[in-house]
Amino acid sequence: MKLTDRAALINRDPMTIGERIYLPAIMKGLSITVSHIFKKKVTVSYPEEQRQFSPVFRGLHVLNRDEEGRERCTACGLCALACPAEAITMEAAERKADEKHLYREEKYAAKYEINMLRCIFCGFCEEACPKDAVYMSETVMPADYTRRSFIYKKEDLLISHPKK
Ligand code: SF4
Ligand code: SF4
Repeated sequence: MKLTDRAALINRDPMTIGERIYLPAIMKGLSITVSHIFKKKVTVSYPEEQRQFSPVFRGLHVLNRDEEGRERCTACGLCALACPAEAITMEAAERKADEKHLYREEKYAAKYEINMLRCIFCGFCEEACPKDAVYMSETVMPADYTRRSFIYKKEDLLISHPKK
């Protein structure tokens, strides 16, 4: 439709007295506002209030430990390979003889980072992990002020007690 055709559709009848004083329109707008005051609220005061999420909700990642408290991750890199957002980076290291109580296998992640600004919470990393080392918790990612604070390091992700 041409612009001139559209302009022809505009109602150019002179305004009535009611339309000129805008009062009916204001009253109509106020009545809509007042009707919403008595309706059930759909917003929550996060973070004081938390919403109930679906049981399949995927929140912040967690690095798990085994029953003896040792790190499960062996830095195999499968989670990083499966990640479509390339959000995971890691560096592998070899366990020393006196570190058997710290790491479950001979290789472990000396560095493990997830860039949460890249992450799309798809859960592929969790599915790819053969050691049940990374899983997605029910914790909602907190807001923050800097880009750097969204890069979660191994120390941020590693839980102190194993989750069964
Ligand atoms: S949840 Fe998906 S996007 Fe996020 S780190 Fe895991 S694989 Fe990557
Ligand atoms: S979290 Fe799992 S998949 Fe990722 S490097 Fe560690 S052991 Fe491998």
